[in-house]
Amino acid sequence: MIRGMKNWFCLLSSLVVLEGAAQTNGSDVRMDFEKYNPPSTLVVPEHKVTRAKFPFIDVHNHQFGMPDMDLNVLIRAMDQLNMQVMVNLSGQTGDRIKKSVNNIRTNFPKRFLVFANVNFQGVGSDGWGEKAAQQLEEDVRNGASGLKIYKSLGFSVTDVSGKRVPVDDPRLDPVWKKAGELRIPVLIHTADPKPFWQPMDEKNERWLELATHPNRKKDDTNPAPWDTLIAEQHRLFKKHKGTTFIAAHFGWYPNDLAHLGALLDEMPNVMVEFGAIIAELGRQPKMSKWFFTKYQDRILFGKDSWVPDEYATYFRVLETEDEYFPYHKKYHAFWAMYGMGLPDDILKKIYYKNALRIIPGIDKSQFPD
Ligand SMILES: [Zn+2]
Repeated sequence: MIRGMKNWFCLLSSLVVLEGAAQTNGSDVRMDFEKYNPPSTLVVPEHKVTRAKFPFIDVHNHQFGMPDMDLNVLIRAMDQLNMQVMVNLSGQTGDRIKKSVNNIRTNFPKRFLVFANVNFQGVGSDGWGEKAAQQLEEDVRNGASGLKIYKSLGFSVTDVSGKRVPVDDPRLDPVWKKAGELRIPVLIHTADPKPFWQPMDEKNERWLELATHPNRKKDDTNPAPWDTLIAEQHRLFKKHKGTTFIAAHFGWYPNDLAHLGALLDEMPNVMVEFGAIIAELGRQPKMSKWFFTKYQDRILFGKDSWVPDEYATYFRVLETEDEYFPYHKKYHAFWAMYGMGLPDDILKKIYYKNALRIIPGIDKSQFPD
C-alpha cells in the first residue's frame, strides 16, 4: 500500500504543478492532505444500501447509558437499518448490568443484549481470579450474555505491584475458564492497527489518524511491541480451547486475510468481527470474498462506534458489487470502496446465523431461516 500512497502523492504533486502554473505564475502551491478530497467523476452503476437485506445482529456496540436511557431512541434508528438485535458490550458489572437488563426486559426484551466487563483492579492480590470469575457468574445470572474485554488489558491494566498485566497472564485464567463453563463468548479487543506503532511519516497509512488523535501513537515501550501484544492474545486463545473468543476488529489482520485465515485454522475456538475495519475489506473485494466464503461460519457483524449513517458503507461493501464508492472517515481510509457481492446464504450467516449459534439468549424467531 506504500505504492498506493506514492501514487496518491504523485497525483497530488502533478495537480499542484498544474494549479500553480495556472493560478500563481508557477509558485509552489500545496494543499492539505485532509482538504484534498475530490468527488469522483467515475460513472458506474450505484446501489446505495441504507437498510440491510436481512435483519442483523450487531455484536459490537457501546451504549454506556443503557441502565437508564430511553431505548425507543435506539429502536427507531435500529428499525431503519434493519438491526434486529444490538449487543451492548459496555454492560459493566454488578448493579449496572442489573439495571440495563431491567430496562431491556421492561421495554424491548428481544432487541438488546448486554455483555459484562471485568474490573481489573487488584490483579495479583489473593484470590483475585476466583473473585472475578464469581462476579462474571453473577453478572451472567443477572442477564449478561457474554464478556467484553477492552484493549486496556495489554495497554494500561497493571497488577498490584504496578506491572503491566499481559493479555495471557495466568492470574486471569479463572475468568476465561468460567466463560467457557457458562458457554458465553468473550469478545476481546487487543492492541490497535499496527501503523500506530510505526514512525509517523509519509509511509504511515494511518498518518492522518495519528495527526488527529495523537494519543493513539504507540511504540515498543509504550506499552509494548505490537507483535508482543498480538502474540499474548493468541496464546490466550490457544490455552483456553473450551472458551469461544471473538477477536474484535478481525484481530487487526484485516489487511492480511490469508494470515488471518491461517490463524482461524489453527484456533477453532476463535471467531472474528469487522468493527471499524470495513475500509480494509472494501479495498480488496476479491480477497475479502475469498475469505468470507472460506470462513463464512467464523465471521460476525460488528460496527463499534454508533453512527447510524455509517452502516450504509458496511451494507454496500457486503451486499453489492459496486465499484469505487466513498468511505465515511478519511483517517481510516483515503481510498475508495468496492463491494464483495456476497450471496444470500453467506450474508445470512454474517448478519445473524453465526451470532445466533454462539451468543446465548437471542430469540431466533425474529430471523428468517
Ligand atoms: Zn468497541
